[in-house]
Amino acid sequence: MQNYDVLVIGAGPGGSSAARFSARHGLKTLMIEKRPDIGSPVRCGEGVSRAWMSDYGVKPNVHWISDEVKGARIYGPSERRPITLTAENAGNEVGFVIERDKFDKEMAALAAEEGADVWVKSPALSVIKEDGKVSGARIRHNGQMVDIHAKMVIAADGFESEFGRWAGLKSIILAKNDIISCIEYRMIGVDSDVDYTDFYLGSIAPAGYIWVFPKGEKEANVGIGVTISAMNDRWDVRNYLDNWIKNHPGYAKGRTIQQITGGVSVSKVRDKFTLPGLLLVGDAARLIDPITGGGIANAYVSGSYAADVAKQAIEANDFSQEMMNRYEKLVKNKFQRKHLRNWIAKEKLGKLSDENLDKLVDIISEVKMTEISVEEILKAIQAKYPEMVKELEELI
Ligand SMILES: Cc1cc2nc3c(=O)[nH]c(=O)nc-3n(C[C@H](O)[C@H](O)[C@H](O)COP(=O)(O)OP(=O)(O)OC[C@H]3O[C@@H](n4cnc5c(N)ncnc54)[C@H](O)[C@@H]3O)c2cc1C
Repeated sequence: MQNYDVLVIGAGPGGSSAARFSARHGLKTLMIEKRPDIGSPVRCGEGVSRAWMSDYGVKPNVHWISDEVKGARIYGPSERRPITLTAENAGNEVGFVIERDKFDKEMAALAAEEGADVWVKSPALSVIKEDGKVSGARIRHNGQMVDIHAKMVIAADGFESEFGRWAGLKSIILAKNDIISCIEYRMIGVDSDVDYTDFYLGSIAPAGYIWVFPKGEKEANVGIGVTISAMNDRWDVRNYLDNWIKNHPGYAKGRTIQQITGGVSVSKVRDKFTLPGLLLVGDAARLIDPITGGGIANAYVSGSYAADVAKQAIEANDFSQEMMNRYEKLVKNKFQRKHLRNWIAKEKLGKLSDENLDKLVDIISEVKMTEISVEEILKAIQAKYPEMVKELEELI
């Protein structure tokens, strides 16, 4: 048996952030990771914005950046003319394509530098609860069962998170339309553009999209996410991607050097993702952006909030639900509004016909915008396709 102030479960971006900031607050912190190699195998498109990094002390590092892009392009089904988002009209949302395994290792190193202990190959197997409060976890470490007692537990165990459910949280279970099934090929010898991340919408990827994220000259992550409610068969998602590649000679000529699969949640912010003594962060708390499917930044941000509230709880020796609600409030203030808006947009976009999606992309791509605004888009729709205003107004 060992005692810590804070036990963090999972060493992804959410866990490393929680461990880093807990340790910085002077809390005795342990972060455990079930895999032997932090960040590996990679299950990620590896696109990340730079907007949040400076606020959270993450310095862009050539060691984990494989490509710095100027912007993103969004193509409608006909692929006529994309919407182009650049630093000028999308601000800091542009960013990098990273080497996720190296990134995750560096984030864990930042936690260790602040004094957190890090144990790999150490899965949490069950929850320790005392008097209705989560008080630690039984883990396997170096072939032995070890009970870690902690004043606060931060579960950062990802999309497939089990710890919250083991502890009794049912609120994080997802509806089918809020789960996206993904497959991605890392391809070489392709005609991707190093300056842009590209997104392709339409029936080629029902209620999802295909992405091409450049990893330098002639190399890219080419992936797809499809809502599982639109799938009849688990092979559908692969077939959609293979079909798209087949119809794009610049990619059909490429070779795949790595293949990954995984799931992402695209839900609204949940009502409840804490219990006395337990805070869920990142994917475990379902904090992925419902329209982009991006969750690295949100995981990191929520990890820092969790560390702040863990500190307050420990200082006050108060592990009540009321105290935990402070964390929920911080997360909701930051993400709830945006995620609700993006969730509605996701639901509506997923139901638009290819023809209407094309019209929408046409309109937005034609508007001269220094900053893309709802008002400007609506004005342009009114001028060009007045009959579509009703349908698109709600979406926009
Ligand atoms: C195919 C795919 C593509 C994606 N592309 C992007 C993208 O381009 N950009 C982006 O921002 N996001 C992307 N995401 C989402 C992004 O990967 C996640 O949002 C992000 O990793 C969340 O970080 P996290 O720390 O919450 O969880 P994770 O990074 O999943 O980390 C959870 C960690 O917990 C560990 N763990 C689990 N259970 C236990 C246990 N019982 N004991 C100990 N350790 C445990 C896991 O091994 C893992 O290391 C993608 C996801 C997928 C599946």
